[in-house]
Amino acid sequence: MSPIKPSAHLAEVRYEIRGALTRRARELEAAGTPIIKLNIGNPARYGFSVPAHLREAIAAHLHESEAYGHEQGLEEAREAIATLQRARGARHVQVERIFIGNGVSELIDLSLRALLQPGDEVLLPSPDYPLWSAATILNGGVPRYYRCLAENRHMPDPEEMEALITPRTRALVMVNPNNPTGAVYPRALLEQIVEIAARHRLLLLCDEIYDEILYDGAPFQPLAEIAGTTPCLSFGGLSKVHRACGYRVGWLSLSGDPARTHEYRDALQLLAALRLCANVTAQWAVIPALQDAPTINALTAPTGRLYQARQAVLDGVASSQFLDVVAPEGAIYAFPRVRSDAIANFDDNAFALRLLEEESVLIVPGTSFNVPNSRHMRLTLLPQPAQLREVFVRMERVLERMAVE
Ligand code: PLP
Repeated sequence: MSPIKPSAHLAEVRYEIRGALTRRARELEAAGTPIIKLNIGNPARYGFSVPAHLREAIAAHLHESEAYGHEQGLEEAREAIATLQRARGARHVQVERIFIGNGVSELIDLSLRALLQPGDEVLLPSPDYPLWSAATILNGGVPRYYRCLAENRHMPDPEEMEALITPRTRALVMVNPNNPTGAVYPRALLEQIVEIAARHRLLLLCDEIYDEILYDGAPFQPLAEIAGTTPCLSFGGLSKVHRACGYRVGWLSLSGDPARTHEYRDALQLLAALRLCANVTAQWAVIPALQDAPTINALTAPTGRLYQARQAVLDGVASSQFLDVVAPEGAIYAFPRVRSDAIANFDDNAFALRLLEEESVLIVPGTSFNVPNSRHMRLTLLPQPAQLREVFVRMERVLERMAVE
């Protein structure tokens, strides 16, 4: 009997954050070995909880959540998102140009599906959040990677970006604050990038899901304000800043010249309608999440748990014989690297497997973020600081063994 063959597109698509290493970790756990998991940015798994008033808003509106809703999302929630985006300086934002989805994940796919013809090119960061590459490929597009190297504090180089542009380039994607590097892009850099996008008539897509998770006063600059009349999609959601991954609520806001974007907006609405609507129940949490003061600051302030976790990572790297790192300025990850003078032939996938098998720690190797031959690894900052200190003890043991082999 011939096997059922999956789509050939999938051969190029990967998502190692929940890939083979995670499956192996589950097997080890099932066999009785506790695993320290640093692979997924899922706050509730590490004892963080959704602010009570978000939960209460959902409970209070449960009886109003039984019907299909508007394909773009609850009007009240979209109004709250539009108000936020306008306060951030986004131009021409109205509820008609806001779309709420089942997480930013769904909207990443939808926004690229509404845009791409086969063979169209998309500028993506390397390292990237791998759904951006996957959604580009699955929608017939071709990723063109601009590098965000540790040597450049993980900032993109606008000249390199521009050199990648061809007549097929349609869009430029940024993730700011960045997953996996923790970089927060300064205004002057964003101005240069917007100028390039405007000159080449590219659609800007900026994944700002970590917008309020900032350390040591790093200034977050919303891209839409700088983009002005240049068409721009800004993405945000409840999963990270509001610790509500399981609610599956994300949004996108389309800003810029309506005359240039009305056809694209209509395409987004058609695709949104084809999947009827996002989960209605959880959308009720958007209104208090955006109207009330953000609760994340208590976690990112120097006394807060995320800040302390970040410090545990920085201390762990500083005391390692093998590692260096660019201190994350935002988001919930660190992206340390094994120095080439410490271990010459370092294989990040082999390291990650050994760390799991020998020391029961699950991380994500740097190559999983579409970086060729990466010497990096991504760790989440969500565990307790003491557990992160233990992780560095275990990592050092594996690296010591690898260094002498
Ligand atoms: N974008 C980035 C940069 C992410 O890190 C994630 C999740 O980790 C997502 C989007 C997906 O978020 P959501 O839970 O809203 O689907």
